[in-house]
Amino acid sequence: MKQLLIASRNPGKCREMRILLQPLGAEIIDSIELATEVRVDEIGKTYAENARLKAEAFADHFQTWAIGDDTGLEVDVLEGAPGLHSARLVGPGGTDADRRNHLLSLLGPHPRPWTARFRCAVALAGQDGGIDLAEGECEGEIIPDERGDGGFGYDSIFLVKGMGRTMAEISPEEKNRVSHRARAVQALLPTLKKRLGC
Ligand code: IMP
Repeated sequence: MKQLLIASRNPGKCREMRILLQPLGAEIIDSIELATEVRVDEIGKTYAENARLKAEAFADHFQTWAIGDDTGLEVDVLEGAPGLHSARLVGPGGTDADRRNHLLSLLGPHPRPWTARFRCAVALAGQDGGIDLAEGECEGEIIPDERGDGGFGYDSIFLVKGMGRTMAEISPEEKNRVSHRARAVQALLPTLKKRLGC
């Protein structure tokens, strides 16, 4: 059976990716399961570059196929911030709750609605040096009070456009139908099947 490694230490991301990648029929391993020292600095200038850095680092280290994901939350009134810096909105050691609170403090002085989108790039790296990329987006708005206890990261303050619920209020199945990550992985699936030979 073909193996595909999810190049992420984020349990929420790994949980979602594992389900999104099920149609491949491959053995999916996530890097949380592996005691690994691989660390990737997100120094790319785009989501795609960062997704590629993650995929390549894990593919090289474990000599297997690896899929990397880089995601950002872009808020219009903040001119697209935090964007590429979404994971580093507060200093090292900050939690998801710290990042949500900091974002809300930046948004406080601005009139609502705080329209926003998640953008996600996924990259596949393998043994032949080639890279395949795909991207996905999900539109919505940031709300001032958290709602829901599903998901992770910024989900509880992100109201999904047209759903009237936050990403933390919808079920995991619904999130995996409408999310930025779902769209990116679905766009990459035909290539994944071809390259892995599934
Ligand atoms: P990264 O892609 O791991 O760099 O994540 C960037 C930031 O966005 C981190 O703070 C994540 O927790 C957050 N994030 C990534 N994906 C999602 C998502 O699907 N929903 C909510 N927050 C997310």
